[in-house]
Amino acid sequence: MNFTDFLSKIQHKFSDAEQALLKRAFDFAAKAHQGQKRFSGQDYIEHPIAAALILAGILPEPKIIAATLLHDVPEDTKFGLNEIKKEFGEEIATLVDGVTKLGRVRLRNSRDKYYVENLRKMFVATSKDIRVILIKLADRLHNMRTLEFVKEAKQKRIAEETLEIFAPIASRLGIGEWKDELEDRAFQIVYPKEYAQTKKLLEQTLEQRSHGLKRLQKELSEILHTEGVKFEEISGRIKRVYSLYKKLQRYDQDITKIYDLMALRVITKATAECYAALGAIHKHLQPLPDRVKDYIALPKPNGYRSIHTTVFDAEKNIFEIQIRTIQMHEQAEKGIAAHWAYAEGSKPAGAEKESVPAANLKWVEDLQKMQEQLHNPEDFLNALRIDFFQDRIFVLTPKGDVKDLPEGATPIDFAFSVHSDLGFFMQGAKVNGKMVKIEHKIKSGDVVEIIKSKKPVKISQDWLSLARTSNARNKIRHYLSENQTGIFNTLKSLIKRSK
Ligand code: MN
Repeated sequence: MNFTDFLSKIQHKFSDAEQALLKRAFDFAAKAHQGQKRFSGQDYIEHPIAAALILAGILPEPKIIAATLLHDVPEDTKFGLNEIKKEFGEEIATLVDGVTKLGRVRLRNSRDKYYVENLRKMFVATSKDIRVILIKLADRLHNMRTLEFVKEAKQKRIAEETLEIFAPIASRLGIGEWKDELEDRAFQIVYPKEYAQTKKLLEQTLEQRSHGLKRLQKELSEILHTEGVKFEEISGRIKRVYSLYKKLQRYDQDITKIYDLMALRVITKATAECYAALGAIHKHLQPLPDRVKDYIALPKPNGYRSIHTTVFDAEKNIFEIQIRTIQMHEQAEKGIAAHWAYAEGSKPAGAEKESVPAANLKWVEDLQKMQEQLHNPEDFLNALRIDFFQDRIFVLTPKGDVKDLPEGATPIDFAFSVHSDLGFFMQGAKVNGKMVKIEHKIKSGDVVEIIKSKKPVKISQDWLSLARTSNARNKIRHYLSENQTGIFNTLKSLIKRSK
């Protein structure tokens, strides 16, 4: 691919200076990789070009695109980081260096300490600059697209790493588009049998139900017109194979219990129209009880916003309907990159002016804190799994600050997340104004208030099993090890652990 073709594939108008930068990076990378081939037999340069185009698809920012073009230069060519620094400056060189370091992370075995150590380095590098991880994700996505040319054993390792590390990171950054593709491609290689089964099941079910979806799409459009609700479009979306596979595990493999297999998406210009659409839909189609989720008022931790509801059609088939604005839709696809784009001031045409929630980078801070606190790699891995890969809840402090906690979190977790020492002074807790026990499981949207005592309270071993966050657990563990009250507690904890 030549530079003109490359540029024409990016849907963004760059200034002359920006174009000149991109051209220099393009030519430099082409020269550096000259003569190198990929396993597919293609010229190596096609890989950084493809990765740069993937990245530009969600974030057309010239410096990041230039760094993506250059991302394999220091590792694989005779040109070093210093040459990149001389040619392109400190900022681009730092991004490229970060990507090179991330490239050394290898998932060998999830119990392997070397891997865990590397994983830590990866997160340290990442938390310095999220752009590095965006480049690495684009790089990985292109590698996944061309994985068939790689030896089988290596395919498996890369796909496992993608499923365990990269897809969850894409998800955490809210980049739905990338997460979906990474998951489905990796799933196919790591669990080929399960993939084939799930795909077949999905296709069979769709065949039976897609007629109903089309009919409902038409009906929905009529309902909205009748009720005078303005909307941009209604589209259908089909659940991804990996996402269905995971959900089937939670629903006894019973596909009839999965209501969001096919969903309709109503896209509007303004938030008010989302609520108007919800009202109109419920007026004409019977909703299932307890299935309305307002992620506009309470977004998911990765910034996802939408209203979900599940309704019966005239023939008592069940469908999910997702309602969101153009801007929310773009954020669901591009995640953190969309926040960036808005910060630059380029809103999609027709989008309403609304305040964009600050990019949620709290998880990065959390990871950094975790680094400082955990010295045992196995603990780190467990912490990572618990906090990183499970669903999160949003709770509020009495002042209205939002706290991001894992599902199943208790007031203990909340207290330690508010202030490192609040947990040690916690006498009791109120949820939505009512006193609760410390083992109470907090739910999204709860207002949690910690009742503080004047003196530090005596913390028992039980707290450890009630806390869900590694932050709280580490502090409790540390406290307990410094306040050993004899062999009894140690024995008790050993018994618990062996259960
Ligand atoms: Mn690469």
